[in-house]
Amino acid sequence: MQREIVKYGHPALRKPGAEVAEIDDAVRGLVDDMLDTMDAAAGIGLAAPQIAESVQLCVVDVTPIEDRPSRLWINEVEVPISDHMPMILINPKIEVSGDSIPGPEGCLSFPEIYGDVLRPPRAKVRAHGINGETLDFECDGLLSRCIQHEHDHLQGILFIDRMTQAERDRIRDEITELQNSERGRLA
Ligand code: ZN
Repeated sequence: MQREIVKYGHPALRKPGAEVAEIDDAVRGLVDDMLDTMDAAAGIGLAAPQIAESVQLCVVDVTPIEDRPSRLWINEVEVPISDHMPMILINPKIEVSGDSIPGPEGCLSFPEIYGDVLRPPRAKVRAHGINGETLDFECDGLLSRCIQHEHDHLQGILFIDRMTQAERDRIRDEITELQNSERGRLA
């Protein structure tokens, strides 16, 4: 079932998610809803706080993007990305490495707003999958950027927080307008 994606200005986006204690029917239902919602919105990632669910859970699928490469290693062996999408990450922990590089990002909670965000290129990820299995992998490129972006959502951190001041200034009016509109809708 598709769920409503909340926009910037909604308090759920600033609330850190609680750890998932047990993968039960409610969590499985939530994952199904998140996959449906991400697909319908043509997004490449969605975090639970974006549908106002404050839990440590995100979904990622970078396969629709062909012009920005991604790399994935499991046990230090590189594997095809498409074999592992969509990814469901429960209680993810990440460790980033490398010098931060700018890259364009958007966010389903900031429609039509894009900007360059500085992030380290590489991420080591540990999480649980939907069947409770341990996921342990490294990634680079768009996949790494996307997982870092979604992981931030789970801590209440948004991509605008990681933009340069110049980039934030450039989109400030659009962001203020979005925030006012979402707050107005909630009032
Ligand atoms: Zn986002």
